[in-house]
Amino acid sequence: MAESVHLNRRGVLFVLSSPSGAGKTTISRMMLEADKDIALSISATTRPPRPGEVDGVHYHFVDTETFKKMAADGEFLEWAHVFGHRYGTPRARVDELLEAGKDVLFDIDWQGAQQLYQEAGPDVVRVFVLPPTMEELERRLRSRNTDSDEVIAARMERAANEISHWDGYDYVLINDHVEGCFDEVRAILRAERLKRRRQIGLIGFARDLIRAVPDADKK
Ligand code: 5GP
Repeated sequence: MAESVHLNRRGVLFVLSSPSGAGKTTISRMMLEADKDIALSISATTRPPRPGEVDGVHYHFVDTETFKKMAADGEFLEWAHVFGHRYGTPRARVDELLEAGKDVLFDIDWQGAQQLYQEAGPDVVRVFVLPPTMEELERRLRSRNTDSDEVIAARMERAANEISHWDGYDYVLINDHVEGCFDEVRAILRAERLKRRRQIGLIGFARDLIRAVPDADKK
């Protein structure tokens, strides 16, 4: 049946990176709400939770010892130091999601995108979201009211560094309007899902279409 054939494809490992404040978290949330075939990879981190963040939902909040042990045991697909804390992608959840036929969304930085690409090559789609201006980025960071001036200055510095890695991505978008940016992200995912190399379920389907015409392959 056509429907089950369409679902039988290689999952997309969809990486969304941006400097914090450029809107990536909002876009991720919109994406997860709009599309039930993609689910979020939940990272482990040693950074303390921010107000409203829930353990096991936004992150797995772990201490440094636990993180180091997880890394030593090979539990991470990738991990990196970001803002003086450790962040890593647990392998088990990603495997489970892919086995369940889902695509996986990664809200990770450029180091993570690079390592994931080394691990999983063409299954990975890397999308980078740029802010329209650095002034707007700072305004958005301040409007969150969660970070001190010192932290904001450090985040701006880090943002410039993060942006310098924009050329390591497959797609680059400017988030000057969140709805428009979201539409573009969805269009990318839609097109990537249709790539021939992912549609392994169509190999037999295409063969059967050809065979339905007698002797067509002999000409
Ligand atoms: P935040 O502390 O603001 O939640 O995240 C800081 C940065 O760490 C963001 O750029 C976020 O994308 C990145 N990050 C979150 N989880 C991971 C992860 O598992 N691996 C890597 N490499 N980066 C991550």
